[in-house]
Amino acid sequence: MTTNHGDHTDHAVGYDASVLVVTYGEIALKGRNRPVFQRRLLNNMRRALAGEPVTRINHVESRYLVWLDGPARAEACADKLARVFGIRWISPAVSIAKNDVGPELERVGAVAADLARRDVGLAANFKVATRRSDRGFPLNSQEINRLVGRAVSAAIGLPARMTRPDFTVHVLVLRERFLVFTGKRDGAGGLPSGSSGRVCCMLSGGIDSPVAAWLMMRRGCRAALVHVFSGRTAADADAGKIIDLARLLAVWSPVPLTLWLVPVVPYEIRAIEHVADRYDMVMFRRFMLQCAAAIARRENCLALVTGDSLGQVASQTLQNLAAIGPDLQMPVFRPLIAMDKEQITALSQQIGAFTISIRPYRDCCSIRSPHPALSTRAGVLDDLAVRMDLPAAVEEALACGERLLIGPGGRLQRIRAADPD
Ligand code: ATP
Ligand code: MG
Repeated sequence: MTTNHGDHTDHAVGYDASVLVVTYGEIALKGRNRPVFQRRLLNNMRRALAGEPVTRINHVESRYLVWLDGPARAEACADKLARVFGIRWISPAVSIAKNDVGPELERVGAVAADLARRDVGLAANFKVATRRSDRGFPLNSQEINRLVGRAVSAAIGLPARMTRPDFTVHVLVLRERFLVFTGKRDGAGGLPSGSSGRVCCMLSGGIDSPVAAWLMMRRGCRAALVHVFSGRTAADADAGKIIDLARLLAVWSPVPLTLWLVPVVPYEIRAIEHVADRYDMVMFRRFMLQCAAAIARRENCLALVTGDSLGQVASQTLQNLAAIGPDLQMPVFRPLIAMDKEQITALSQQIGAFTISIRPYRDCCSIRSPHPALSTRAGVLDDLAVRMDLPAAVEEALACGERLLIGPGGRLQRIRAADPD
């Protein structure tokens, strides 16, 4: 580790963007418990950066500075931090110690000019945006913008433009140093993983449910995933696609994700005798939710999550949604309920799930009756549940299920469902 934290001292030999500026969003709004969230975020950042040449992470004036042993891995580290929830933006920056800077901010201007030359691309104008965290600094933001802007303009020969510039050079004035950077990469937002408790997410092979799980993970939840597959035993599960979706979600989690694979056959052999075709779809959802609720209790989850979107298909009419889970004694969150397919698809693409979700898969939902009732009363399902002994179906399904652990790197460990943790 360099003793000056990689501060830029000789711009003639190039710049050394070996510090990442990391800002957080909503945590800043927290009151007395803010340190708890900050500690979580810091731990999660450390885990995401394991194996990277990080020499130190410090919290300075409401942001984190991640110091690297050289600039080579700066972009790779920024990529990793973009998948840590709770972060608003990330920027590889050049640090300039305050005592290296004369009253004309010459060195800041020179570094800003260097970075502008490197990154300006095809921009036709630019802006310098200064933020002063050190209120005691003798020049105000406008004055700094002007001085640094002059140096940048001379270097790249472009005019400054204050509104909607093509290109921005940022200057951050902290108490001990200046930080200069050209790009701000969006972070994932939300709250740090682990700060909101555990939820049990129902994962199908479709587009919606991975997005629903991701949105809850973004709110700081740790997720256990449950998938119901067509077949009787784990050996029948053609789970490659589901595991790939779980692996994708695991990238956003600092701890391994649990994925339960549960067979549908224990439901089907009972339903065949007792459940009329038009009730099958909704009854089957009851079975799935009850399996998930039983798993949630084992995994210490306090709520279930589904990818339902109101009116999307027959099982998602308001009446049917109301009839599916009246007896769960656990909240069911449906983060997509008010979104339309276009919005959901855009999110799916953004998180990289879409190309996996559109792979062919024989989901056990797709083999249910093609004409389900659009409006089912809970009372009818209650009677059917007693007649077919739904709790026995759930118990049997869990006993034949499989529990997998998926590490952040995609490593997979199989654990028999009946095994203790
Ligand atoms: P699609 O993009 O095809 O709509 P989907 O995931 O929304 O995919 P739906 O058939 O609309 O699938 O099911 C609604 C919700 O029920 C899903 O979002 C998911 O949470 C849950 N679900 C459906 N099928 C399964 C399954 N086989 N295992 C676990 N959960 C499921
Ligand atoms: Mg759907």
